[in-house]
Amino acid sequence: MSYDPNNIFAKILRGEVPCIKVFEDQMTLVFMDIMPQAEGHLLVIPKEPAAQIFELSEDAAAACMRTARKAAIAVRTALKPPGMTLAQANGSAAGQTVPHFHIHVIPRHGGGFLAPHAAQRGDAEKLKQLAERIIAAWPESEETR
Ligand code: 5GP
Repeated sequence: MSYDPNNIFAKILRGEVPCIKVFEDQMTLVFMDIMPQAEGHLLVIPKEPAAQIFELSEDAAAACMRTARKAAIAVRTALKPPGMTLAQANGSAAGQTVPHFHIHVIPRHGGGFLAPHAAQRGDAEKLKQLAERIIAAWPESEETR
């Protein structure tokens, strides 16, 4: 799949569209999903321009999973959900709506309930408060919890 440099995550990476940032390093960016499926829903993206996993370099894939692991730890420490789903969709047939590779980190509270995908905008103030709590719980590189 060819990469569209005007997709919304590319614009976020270029700073043309704002996001509620949680973490950034050389290869990845983490921010709050604007239409969360659960409180604390994060997106982990590579800075590398890749629409799907098939075009993603091994280095960027590894960097995304390293960051996703930290994101999951931070969300667990901050929000204490009993479970956590990491998800990643490739192609519209799989439910992908933004053509820049991303990993969803979604806290789960049991009962199978999740808000509909990419459907309802979260309250900006609430998202900022959640981001602050997750940032405060962000682990060091080697740390496990
Ligand atoms: P996908 O459907 O591709 O697996 O996931 C795309 C995700 O991006 C959805 O969960 C959707 O809520 C989120 N999203 C779409 N547009 C924006 C945006 O402008 N900002 C942020 N932070 N998230 C977005």
